[in-house]
Amino acid sequence: MLAAKQIRDSFIDFFQQKGHTFVPSSPIVPVNDETLLFANAGMNQFKDIFLGLVPSQYPRAVNSQKCLRVSGKHNDLEEVGKDTYHHTFFEMLGNWSFNDYFKAEAIQWAWELLTEVWGIDQDRLWATVFAGDQNEGLPADNEAAELWTKVTSISAERVLAFGKKDNFWEMGETGPCGPCSEIHIDLGPDTCDKKVIKGHKCQVNGDCARFIELWNLVFIQFNRQADGKLLPLSAKYVDTGAGLERVVAVLQHKKSNYDTDLFMPIISRASEISGHKYTAALGNKTDNAFRVIADHIRAIVFAITDGATPSNEGRGYVIRRILRRASRFGRELGMHEPFIYKLVPVVVDCLGDAFTEIKERADYVSTVIEAEEANFGRTLDRGIEIFAAAAKRAAKTAEKTISGDDAFQLYDTYGFPLDLTQLMAEERGLKVDTKKFNELMEEQRERARSGQKDVWLSGMIKATSSVSGKLTVFPKTDDLYKYQTDRCESKIIGWIDSEGFKTEGSVPTNTEVGLILDKTCFYAEAGGQVGDCGIIRSNDGKFIVENTTKVASCVIHRGQLTDGTLAGGDQVKAIVSKDRYATKKNHTATHLLQWALQNVFGKSVSQQGSYVGPDYLRFDFTYPKAPTSEQLREIEKLVREKITADLPVTCLAMPREKAEKLGAMALFGEKYGNEVRVVGLGAEADDKIDEAFSKEFCGGTHVDRLGTIGGFKITKEESISAGVRRITALTGSGLMDYLEKASDIVDELSAMLKVPSEGLIERVEQLIKDNKQLTKKLKTAARAAGSDIMTEAKKLLENCEKIGEAHIIIGKVSTGSVESAREAVDMLKKKAKSAVIVLGFEEDGKATLLAGATDDIVKRGLKAGDIVKSIAPIIDGGGGGRPQMAQAGGKDPAKIREALIKASELIKEKLKSP
Ligand code: ATP
Ligand code: MG
Repeated sequence: MLAAKQIRDSFIDFFQQKGHTFVPSSPIVPVNDETLLFANAGMNQFKDIFLGLVPSQYPRAVNSQKCLRVSGKHNDLEEVGKDTYHHTFFEMLGNWSFNDYFKAEAIQWAWELLTEVWGIDQDRLWATVFAGDQNEGLPADNEAAELWTKVTSISAERVLAFGKKDNFWEMGETGPCGPCSEIHIDLGPDTCDKKVIKGHKCQVNGDCARFIELWNLVFIQFNRQADGKLLPLSAKYVDTGAGLERVVAVLQHKKSNYDTDLFMPIISRASEISGHKYTAALGNKTDNAFRVIADHIRAIVFAITDGATPSNEGRGYVIRRILRRASRFGRELGMHEPFIYKLVPVVVDCLGDAFTEIKERADYVSTVIEAEEANFGRTLDRGIEIFAAAAKRAAKTAEKTISGDDAFQLYDTYGFPLDLTQLMAEERGLKVDTKKFNELMEEQRERARSGQKDVWLSGMIKATSSVSGKLTVFPKTDDLYKYQTDRCESKIIGWIDSEGFKTEGSVPTNTEVGLILDKTCFYAEAGGQVGDCGIIRSNDGKFIVENTTKVASCVIHRGQLTDGTLAGGDQVKAIVSKDRYATKKNHTATHLLQWALQNVFGKSVSQQGSYVGPDYLRFDFTYPKAPTSEQLREIEKLVREKITADLPVTCLAMPREKAEKLGAMALFGEKYGNEVRVVGLGAEADDKIDEAFSKEFCGGTHVDRLGTIGGFKITKEESISAGVRRITALTGSGLMDYLEKASDIVDELSAMLKVPSEGLIERVEQLIKDNKQLTKKLKTAARAAGSDIMTEAKKLLENCEKIGEAHIIIGKVSTGSVESAREAVDMLKKKAKSAVIVLGFEEDGKATLLAGATDDIVKRGLKAGDIVKSIAPIIDGGGGGRPQMAQAGGKDPAKIREALIKASELIKEKLKSP
């Protein structure tokens, strides 16, 4: 029996032998594509080729693409665990033709691989073709139908035609599309999961688990216009996708993907950890939990490896949702402590050979998962209780629906993603009011809406392709000047405004547009380095550039025409702002910092992201714990030594393979072309770059010599998520400003404390020490005073008069605080059981009187508030309070005794009278 690894390899081998180039999977987190959360098909990385934006580097390609279907158009999350063949993460095997071969070869080869190489019984296979669509004016794909019987041995009655829903594939609203041909397999009558449904018939596309789709062959031959019309494409493409997990199940003679060597090791490990047994039954809660967990851990490992981290929005939230879902299913296996992270090594065992990146990042991934599990674990059990209460309430409603408020509370306070609440509701036959939930979410978002991501560009591009009605191929800008100069002569090729891409007429004034030149020295935002700002001027127009970005190979200068006019074809001068100098220093310093970090922490430190602007630099990297201040000082020292040595910086373009051989560091997950630029530090000449102590793949702008950086200081070190640290640092003029401010503060302190700056530390240390001592003294004094007043109060009680059961406790005490006097009153009340108390004391030349009465006395009509009110004027003051406790303050402490005598008279009178 073939192992999954051999099956994957045999697919790739097969197509390599047929002239296909192996292209590694693109990262599951798409790089530079904000329109897609996660890769969900093999074609994603070739999208720009289909769109005509870039030429393909090979006529035929083959690969195994990491896919995640948990959001957007393709979302299979609900199916996972309930069926045996839909996963969140799966591998899509694919072969491509970029305007090379077409339907005949695609069909013939798929059949050959399935039946001859892999030996699947052809009587179990079915093929489908497009039946045509009258409304769309689309003809049936007779070509494919004929080819099936001509180039393969399939019998005619096994080739079925279906409509648009099943057999016409479109990438999106507009763009390349075409009919497809699918290959389905019959897994045998006992695999049907719809037997109980009346009138169910097992058939292809019949919605039961007996017939499942193995392989989809898409023939891209049309381009969908913005107005909905389809035009034939001059270039034709083949794009196929076969689910590896499904193929493996068939070839390993398993009824379920989970029974294959892609999942069983994970399930076994989960079984070992939890002590529960997996019996592979569908519809069984425990077995379902095993399947979900085995599925989800694969998705989480790949997504985190490729750069997604759990968070509250976008990609990060998808990962958080999957992980929390897995945690909740862990409860079904009795797991209350973090345990999912313990499955990382077995996932690495299963897939680490095919995808070495998960091996390299396993420790980091484990750290992140464990932290996230521990975090959610704190609220999960309580959340489950809250859910149970909400479900009970919902069961009583006519609609059997959990309220939007409950779902939102679960989300907001207990971290339950909506789909988790829905899943748990569904288990009890309940629904969730998602409308109300979404309203509440929207309100919260509205509140939090700030610093939103810029959508200008994507809006522009959308406008562009819909208005012109054809695929826009943005002109390529010659921008190598950015490495040599900060000003150049160029010509306006066109611009993008809200209506689309224009090349003729004049540029609109005082509104944001994207100006496109034939060549430019402006640096477009990339690799963490911010886009340049500056000015583009002609004889009579002035365009302020606020930012520079890139789409495919086109540099877009974003900004506004503020003076005069500019038009297509105008000669202009492009002038980059002086900020660029500061940015360059920060960029080179970032390379120095990464080198120093690896020196101090080891090679496993890897870059997670960076910001390089004129103001400061920021560098995020993987490291499991907080660096010590000694380590940070060591890092600064290493960087500064290199700056002082004023070594040269060299940049050299070379083939990617050569750069890899040189050991140049590449940004993890980034897709590089065949030709890369390497920036080296410390090599004497470009051709000696191999001698550089730091070598990085980098397209950024750098200083020529390290001395130019002018200084380096780390201003902040923090943790930004589990296992990821962030360093913020300054160089050049930013550092000068910082130092100037710091020195001003020192001067001011030195004037304030009247010591020279060298003596400041000692002086402040002394002040802190004095302060500590004084606070301690004060506390002891207060405590002594407190215990004094308690003794005094007890004495007053011992010697007090009584009328009936009631103690009359009156006297002057020597405390200085109201609190301790109050405590004394409370203590006396408790001890005497029935009492009326009046205490007076003096503090800072002021008088305070405090009265208290036990409840029985209050019932007899004698209230503390009244007593205080009548005696307060004697001490030249006022006051009041509750019947049980009252207080007054006055200016004449000499009269405290008189006030107390008066109080005593009042009380006795009241208590004696019946
Ligand atoms: P299905 O109808 O079974 O959901 P699909 O039409 O969504 O499949 P395609 O988008 O054509 O599938 O993807 C190509 C191939 O990828 C499929 O033929 C199948 O083998 C595999 N595949 C698709 N979705 C999944 C999934 N969620 N888990 C595992 N394999 C999948
Ligand atoms: Mg599907």
